[in-house]
Amino acid sequence: MNGLMMNWQLTLDKILEHANRLYPHKHITTMQPDGSLHRYTYADLYRRTKRMANALVQLGIAPGDRVGTFAWNNYQHLELYYAIPGAGAVCHTLNIRLFADQLAYIVNHAEDRIVFVDGTLLPLFEKVAPDVRCVEHYVLFNAPREAAAKLPNVLFYEDLIEGADERFTWRCTDESMAMGMCYTSGTTGEPKGALYSHRSMFLHTLGENQANALGITESDIVLPVVPQFHAMAWGLPYACAAAGADMVLPGPHLRPQPLADLITNERVTVAGGVPTIWNGLYHELKQHPRDISCLRALVVGGSAMPRSLIAAYERELGVNVLHAWGMTETSPLGTVSIPLKQHEALEKGAVWDIKAKQGYPILGVELRIVDEVGRELPWDGRTMGELQVRGPWVISQYFKRDITRDYMTEDGWFRTGDVATVSPEGYMTITDRTKDLVKSGGEWISTVELESAIIGHPKVLEAAVIAVPDEKWSERPLACVVRTQDGWDLTAEELTSYLNDRVAKFWIPDRFVFIDEVPKTSVGKFDKKVLRRQFAAGELG
Ligand code: AMP
Repeated sequence: MNGLMMNWQLTLDKILEHANRLYPHKHITTMQPDGSLHRYTYADLYRRTKRMANALVQLGIAPGDRVGTFAWNNYQHLELYYAIPGAGAVCHTLNIRLFADQLAYIVNHAEDRIVFVDGTLLPLFEKVAPDVRCVEHYVLFNAPREAAAKLPNVLFYEDLIEGADERFTWRCTDESMAMGMCYTSGTTGEPKGALYSHRSMFLHTLGENQANALGITESDIVLPVVPQFHAMAWGLPYACAAAGADMVLPGPHLRPQPLADLITNERVTVAGGVPTIWNGLYHELKQHPRDISCLRALVVGGSAMPRSLIAAYERELGVNVLHAWGMTETSPLGTVSIPLKQHEALEKGAVWDIKAKQGYPILGVELRIVDEVGRELPWDGRTMGELQVRGPWVISQYFKRDITRDYMTEDGWFRTGDVATVSPEGYMTITDRTKDLVKSGGEWISTVELESAIIGHPKVLEAAVIAVPDEKWSERPLACVVRTQDGWDLTAEELTSYLNDRVAKFWIPDRFVFIDEVPKTSVGKFDKKVLRRQFAAGELG
C-alpha cells in the first residue's frame, strides 16, 4: 500500500521562493572586479532572477536546453543558478581554468545554446569561441559596451534584466528535470558531464544542511571560495538560500589577503574551499594576524586536508576545521568528518586524527569498499579497497555516454576511483586515487598519507608524492617538496629522519626533489600527471 501524501515536486524554485518569503532582507555581498563591494538582498536576487528567467524564455530557451556560464563567484552567477533552472533549462557551469580546446569540446558536447560570460574572463573565452558551433548568443556582464566586438552575437546581461518582466511562472514543473551540469575535470580521458536534476539538488541541499553535516543556519554568513564552476560550489548557493544565510562571494579575488579581509570585515562564519586555498590563508594569517573569531567552520574538501594544517588552524588560530569529501559525480557532498560525542573525552591530537579523515557518509549517501573482484571489505580502519557510493544525488550515468562497468557496478554502485579504508565507527579515509597508489615490493603505499606526513615538517609548504619505476621494488615513492620561505636550507636527510618515526620504514621516499611549486589542475588539485611527465623527461629526480 502506498502512502497518501502529496506529490510535491522537489524543484529549486521552491528554495528561492522560500528564501524570498522568509529571508528577503538577508544579504548577498560580492567583491567586484575592482575590489569594491556590491551588496543586495535575497529579495533583489529573487526579482532579478525572475526577470532573467523571462529573458531566457524570450530568447527561445526551452526546457532541457543547456545554457553555459563562464564566470567567477558573484551575484550574477548566483542569479543564473536559479534563473536557468527556473526557466526549465540546464545551468552548465564551465570551468574557467581549462584549456581553450577542452572548453570548446565541452561546450560543443553539451550543445550550449547561450553562454553567459563574465567580462573579466573575456580574453580567455575569446580563444574558445572560434571552435564553438552551437552557441546562438553570448551574454556579457561586468563588461563595457566595446566588449561586444570580441564575440559573435553579443547581448548584455543588464539589458536583458531591464527588458524583461518580473512576473514569471517557473518552468521547472517536474522534479526529475535536469537543472545543472558540470563536467569532471578529468585528469584522464575526455571530460564527462554530471547532469543534476532538481530532485537530486533539492535533496542534496537538505542533506548538506543536516545538523550532522554542514548544518548551515540563518545566523551564518557563508563564503564559498570553492568556485561556482566546480561541482556547483558544493551546493552552497542552494544551501544558503534554503537556510536564509547571508552569502559573501569573492569574485576573482582568491588570493589569501583579500580572502582574509573578507572573512574579518564581513564576519564570515562558514568558508568553503580546497586545502591549497586554506594553506595560503594560514600563512597570510600568521604573517598578518587578523581577528577571525567569527569563523565557526572552515570547510575543506576537494583534496585531503593535511592533519598538520588542521592542527595548526585549531591550535594557533582557534579555527574549527570541517573536512569533507565529495565528487562532481556526487553533487558533490558525500562525507564529513565531525567528531562524535564519544570523542569528546579524547585529547586534541586524537581529535585531529579524526578530522583528518574524510569522514562518515551523510544521510542520503551510502558507501562501501570492495576488493579487485568486487567483494565487500570490512570496516576495520585498515583494509583498503575501492570506494563505491550510491544515493539520490549520485550520478547514474554520464551525459551522452553509455553506462559502463568502468564507473558503475552491476548492482548499481558508482565507482569513485578512490581507494579508502573505513573505521568501525564509519569514518572513511581516502588513501589514494586508484591510479596514484605506489606499489612497492607488493605492498601499497598511500601517497595521500605520505604527503600529509611530509607537510607536517615546519619547513615544508607543499608536498606531492608520485610512483617512479624501480628495478628491485617495481615502484618507489618520489617526493616533490616545496620549501617555505624560511625553509630554504631543508635537506633530504632532514626529511628522512623526520619521517622515521612517523611512517613505515618502507614508505620513506628514497628520493626527495625540491621544486618551486607543485603543478595544479584546473580545480587546484596536485597534477601528478605533470610531475610524472617531468620525471619521465628527466626534469625531476
Ligand atoms: P572533483 O570531482 O574534481 O571534485 O574530484 C573528486 C575527487 O577529489 C575525489 O574522487 C577524490 O579523489 C578527491 N577528493 C575530494 N575531496 C577529498 C578529500 N577531502 N580528501 C581527499 N581527496 C578528496
